[in-house]
Amino acid sequence: MSGPVKAWIGLGSNLEDPLAQLALAITQLASLPRTRLLAQSWFYQSSPMGPQDQPDFVNGVALISTELPAEALLDQLQTLEQDHGRERIIHWGPRTLDLDLLLYGDQQITSDRLTVPHPGIAVRDFVLRPLLDIEPDLVLPNGLSASGLLATCPDNNLKRLSLG
Ligand code: AMP
Repeated sequence: MSGPVKAWIGLGSNLEDPLAQLALAITQLASLPRTRLLAQSWFYQSSPMGPQDQPDFVNGVALISTELPAEALLDQLQTLEQDHGRERIIHWGPRTLDLDLLLYGDQQITSDRLTVPHPGIAVRDFVLRPLLDIEPDLVLPNGLSASGLLATCPDNNLKRLSLG
């Protein structure tokens, strides 16, 4: 069996009390088999990408240590999405919970089901900002710094939310 890997999970929701969806999802990530929660970011409100006639999103990032292989981790993320009642209706449309495997150690994975690093990272401030909350010096496997990417990334009008 291989040792634990640090994996970064992006969380997003814009339906049915998004803050509560994300808070619950973080506790569920912490309870996954062979997995520990190491850190979580602040949560941020952001304007939707794609169709604008939908509520703002709430986004955040969790850092876990896991012994699950990447595809088994994806299975667990998709089960959690379904537990949260997610229905896949419109591309980039509203959703109760979206979980993305952003980074899996420094591995680069391309398969039918997985592209890691997640291709959206570089152009999503609502992913880069929370990644940087947890690791200000984060460098992606392609050698680019998260802070450098954030400086040139489109603006989705992020607002940091208070948790209390
Ligand atoms: P979405 O829920 O719209 O983000 O897309 C989910 C689909 O993206 C699923 O079919 C996954 O197999 C696929 N996918 C590819 N790479 C990733 C990744 N890094 N994290 C999550 N889903 C991924």
